[in-house]
Amino acid sequence: ALDKDKPGSVAKIKVVVRKRPLNKKEISRKEEDIIAIEQHTNSLTVHETKLKVDLTEYVEKHEFVFDAVLDEDVSNDEVYHETVEPIIPAIFQRTKATCFAYGQTGSGKTYTMQPLPLRASQDILRLMHHTYRNQGFLLFVSFFEIYGGKLFDLLNDRRKLCMREDGKQKVCIVGLQEYRVSNVETIRELIEKGNATRSTGTTGANEESSRSHAILQLVIKKSVETNESKHVKRLADSNESKPARVIGKMSFIDLAGSERGADTTDNDKQTRIEGAEINKSLLALKECIRALDNDQVHIPFRGSKLTEVLRDSFIGDSRTVMISCFSPSSGSCEHTLNTLRYADRVK
Ligand code: ADP
Ligand code: MG
Repeated sequence: ALDKDKPGSVAKIKVVVRKRPLNKKEISRKEEDIIAIEQHTNSLTVHETKLKVDLTEYVEKHEFVFDAVLDEDVSNDEVYHETVEPIIPAIFQRTKATCFAYGQTGSGKTYTMQPLPLRASQDILRLMHHTYRNQGFLLFVSFFEIYGGKLFDLLNDRRKLCMREDGKQKVCIVGLQEYRVSNVETIRELIEKGNATRSTGTTGANEESSRSHAILQLVIKKSVETNESKHVKRLADSNESKPARVIGKMSFIDLAGSERGADTTDNDKQTRIEGAEINKSLLALKECIRALDNDQVHIPFRGSKLTEVLRDSFIGDSRTVMISCFSPSSGSCEHTLNTLRYADRVK
């Protein structure tokens, strides 16, 4: 998926998969690691145990190749180097980048996603303070979630938000809190605050968060120097009220558990509705990324709230990284195959 128009440019779409170690529960249930990784060919093989009609077992192998295959001993730092780091300079050049974590609940999406925005903002601030010093760049952070097709601000007590399209087909999330940040500590606090808000649910942390998409955005803006403001004496941090336009953006998306999309036959009506919405959004996401990869003019944003919200990240100069997380356990074989097939379709 190389951008053919720009020789030597980074791939427009990168699909990475990440295996987590077997956990205690899986080990105690005597489940086995059924994933073999070949790092040098970026491939992996799933060993699926099946039963013949006479109930004897046999193993069916499924091989996949991705842009990168990360084994269980790969650290979060290495994940950052492999996925987000190469894109950072581009967001100062008008690129809109998106990094998704996909996978079933418990596969490592949040574990993978959580440290990335902090690492990214460290690099962004470093560039702002050195390479792009005195060029008027500003960094903003926002954090919200999509739950049951509705938007909630994670940095403002889960206040309900709505989306509006302006005349130029740009999406605007009305009332979304955007914090201007100039140091890593503040960003760390905001991220922690948002994460804490996200998991405040009635049915327990992982249960709730597995049904929502969490979207953290780092937005780079540039202050607009009007004739008037040039003459106004510059006060420290007085930029807030000054007009600024968006230059680039980096969005980190911790997607809802992929298995939740199958909750469409659940006994509980609310669960069914949420399951249908998740299913719709993950399908729409796949279609949008594929359309992007094929340089299609028509991108099917309208398929879901998630893709509508990300609309401006799918047009123009955009970059997408998909990190698909999976458990190595025999007990998760079916979900893992679904995850890898999804990633394979996006690639
Ligand atoms: P998800 O967000 O997909 O539901 P989590 O990120 O919450 O899953 O991960 C589930 C559990 O597995 C957590 O306790 C997490 O710390 C652990 N885990 C996930 N990925 C890894 C990994 N690569 N290495 C070590 N532990 C991991
Ligand atoms: Mg999670």
